[in-house]
Amino acid sequence: MSFATNLRCRECHREYPLAALNVCEYCFGPVEVTYDYDGIRKNVTRARIEAGPSSLWRYRDFLPCDAESAIDIGAGFTPLIRAKNLGKLLGLNNLYIKNDTTNPTWSFKDRVVAVAASRARELGYEKLACASTGNLANSVSAHAAAAGMEAVVFIPHDLELGKVLGSSIYGPTLVKVNGNYDAVNRLCAELAGNYNWAFVNVNVRPYYSEGSKTLGFEVAEQLGWQAPDHCVVPIASGSLFVKIRKGFQELAKAGLIEEKATRMSGAQATGCSPVATAWQEGSMNFRPQRPDTIAKSLAIGNPADGYYSLVQLKETGGSCGSVTDDEIVQGMKLLAETEGIFGETAGGVTIATLKQLAEQGRIGADEVTVAFITGAGFKTVEAVADSLNAPLEIDATVESFEAAYRALGPAVGVA
Ligand SMILES: *Cc1c(COP(=O)(O)O)cnc(C)c1O
Ligand SMILES: [Zn+2]
Repeated sequence: MSFATNLRCRECHREYPLAALNVCEYCFGPVEVTYDYDGIRKNVTRARIEAGPSSLWRYRDFLPCDAESAIDIGAGFTPLIRAKNLGKLLGLNNLYIKNDTTNPTWSFKDRVVAVAASRARELGYEKLACASTGNLANSVSAHAAAAGMEAVVFIPHDLELGKVLGSSIYGPTLVKVNGNYDAVNRLCAELAGNYNWAFVNVNVRPYYSEGSKTLGFEVAEQLGWQAPDHCVVPIASGSLFVKIRKGFQELAKAGLIEEKATRMSGAQATGCSPVATAWQEGSMNFRPQRPDTIAKSLAIGNPADGYYSLVQLKETGGSCGSVTDDEIVQGMKLLAETEGIFGETAGGVTIATLKQLAEQGRIGADEVTVAFITGAGFKTVEAVADSLNAPLEIDATVESFEAAYRALGPAVGVA
């Protein structure tokens, strides 16, 4: 049984039943799931959560669907790594990496899809669909396959091969749209009106976005039941950024952690930085942009939660940085070389922004800081292919190896 009670408009607070609805019928504000927090407080303990499965379903009491019948391919409960090497380099003494590359389809999108797809099936939908920058399409395709549902997924025409094949392998109807993500999204909003399908990030978006909260739950649990001081989070639509904080707030409301004023900082690519630009200009109104960046998973020029992201930056005393394509590649390499984690371009955005904020003194040296690595690098190899050392090519002889190895020069310390 779920403790979810209603959908409530973020703007006018009108309430609706837990149906497939993403905007308020009265004021067109976004609607959000509400819960019976008294019920949660009475029934949910740390021990109950700790005894749950090693997946996001350990937080089932905070999710808007029935965990017993959920579509579960193992999303969530990913490692939180103490990043000593990277921390030392950046002058951060308490740095952690939340490594969401280890999810079933190698990105945090498995969290949102696990919840949205499960709720969609409860609501009686037979088809799952989505507008995606790549990772979401992968995850919807995989969850639909596991659930025996049909999937129709829409992506922009210019995605990386890994993101395209990463959907095709599960056998969905994959639709490549001539246009950028914002065009794909507009198309799907129209299609959602014509077809009785669950578009996970359109008509069932309130359930989708609840999945992102589980990142906040996990980080708090993994830190020994406390919220961190500072988070650095990549922003595309802004949903993840806003929901991680909701995760901390709900745990506090349920009496499972102390309330804490966690600072929330955002990371964007300069080539698609509507939130970072507005933030740097001191404005609460972002201007939509036409994306041009290698961080394709973050290439949303007109972010649905852009305004709420700006509100959150202001409320929490966070900052929002943006980084160039070259800095993104350097960020990917830096994370790999210091911590052994191969994140995708969005991870490069996060690490490069973390570095920028640390250098600007916007992150305190002793703050418990968590950087969120939301997707795996093997899906975006194109981004780094030209900037990594080529392998040595040799014949299968000792002489050939030694000649090639020596030719690297004294730097490698040939014995
Ligand atoms: C979708 C995505 C994000 C951000 O998602 P929003 O909730 O839309 O801001 C971050 N990282 C990766 C890898 C993604 O695929
Ligand atoms: Zn409303």
